[in-house]
Amino acid sequence: MFGYILCKEDGAQIRSLVTDVVQQTDKMIQSFNISMIGYNISCIQQLIDYIKTRVREHEEGPVRYVFKSEFFIDLVLSICERSNKMITDQHRLFREANDPVIYVEKKRQEYYSIFLKYCHGATSAVIFGEIICQKLKEPIEQSVYKKTARDLTDEVRSNCESLNGNRSNLEKHILKTLAEQEDFDKYMNYIQNPRDHFKSFIRDEVSRFITDQFSVSVLPKMKENIELLQQKIMKAAHESTQHVQVNRGDVGLWLKSFTQQISDELIFSEKDLTGIKHDDVDDFNLLEDLIRHELPAIMFDSSSRFNTNTFDEKLDQFRPDEILIDHLCQCCWVQCPFCKAVCTNTIENHDGDHSVAFHRVTGINGHLYNKTNLSINICTSAVASNGSFCPNDSDDKVLYRDYRRAGGVYAEWSISPDLSELPYWKWFVCRFQKDLEKHYNKTFEGSGEIPDEWKNYSKQDAIESLDKYL
Ligand SMILES: [Zn+2]
Ligand SMILES: [Zn+2]
Repeated sequence: MFGYILCKEDGAQIRSLVTDVVQQTDKMIQSFNISMIGYNISCIQQLIDYIKTRVREHEEGPVRYVFKSEFFIDLVLSICERSNKMITDQHRLFREANDPVIYVEKKRQEYYSIFLKYCHGATSAVIFGEIICQKLKEPIEQSVYKKTARDLTDEVRSNCESLNGNRSNLEKHILKTLAEQEDFDKYMNYIQNPRDHFKSFIRDEVSRFITDQFSVSVLPKMKENIELLQQKIMKAAHESTQHVQVNRGDVGLWLKSFTQQISDELIFSEKDLTGIKHDDVDDFNLLEDLIRHELPAIMFDSSSRFNTNTFDEKLDQFRPDEILIDHLCQCCWVQCPFCKAVCTNTIENHDGDHSVAFHRVTGINGHLYNKTNLSINICTSAVASNGSFCPNDSDDKVLYRDYRRAGGVYAEWSISPDLSELPYWKWFVCRFQKDLEKHYNKTFEGSGEIPDEWKNYSKQDAIESLDKYL
């Protein structure tokens, strides 16, 4: 429609479309399984098709506007930019595992050392032991990364102040950090896309924790895990040798017993030795000795390659940040229709009303008085007053205390009258008054005039109020 100006509800609707498309495309990229099957140009095509369909379906719905093609292009570009790192990382893992050049390069040293042993006339037991050790190298690294990531997740969960509690505790830290940074754009990102903001906050916290703790905590943990693994492998080799000697078995029996014993720690099976001739191995003591002798060198070689960068790259599906995101973000994200505060229910799609202990000044969400000035109401005190609002920019006035009568999302919230207010958002409104006015192109004037006493709150008061109330 020509000349139609987007209203606030339209804006909210478009934002929620964008948030949902971003989330769904994230899931799609995960489901492409790029670290296993590699990147293919059709991945991007599928993403674009999906985005196109969503935008079209949105336009065909009950909306009074159409998107310009720039909207679609910007959306695609921003999603591709977002996904770039995830796709690149996963594809690198795939290449490392599958690219013949990288593979051969990696194997060169292994085969060379085996070849040397041949040249020196080693027995088949020695050669076979050497091959087993080389083949164990990668499963050992994988297992160590996986175990360390698990230990680290527990450690972050108990020692990282922002991540050691529930989502409300995390939100308190997010609000503190935002106040310390005093960055308006970051605030708006948090207010408008809380889930995204929480996720990136968790990623930053975990990455900082790992970097800070790498030499004092992560590295020792990896070394400890590698040592335990070494003991386990040696024990398996020793017991397999005894087992074969007691049962007068052959190398097949030895291998079966060996792989069985290490199977809960390592992804390693008899299949990994397919094509390697070993039926003439008969000196099991020698085989065991070789493993006892060679294994520490392999372990040392692996542990010498542990560093902050490779650690981050190798984690793949065991990433502590993703585990913590799953743990902390699977809850209700519905936002208060007045002030955008997020429902604190810990269950996604829960029964009953949405609710939150502390609502905000509604003007930070662009909420207006009489459609003209930004509002300084706080939901909990508004519902105790005689004031009214116009839902969805219509001309119908609804009393705040009867807000449920506005229907829709208003009817799904439980907002109880409460006059105890958090200084935090009052400080925020004073500190960013100009930015908010510019952002919404409206002012805090008339009935939206900011009370003088709000201006007395310092940043410190704002931060301290979070401790008192949350
Ligand atoms: Zn509210
Ligand atoms: Zn809820």
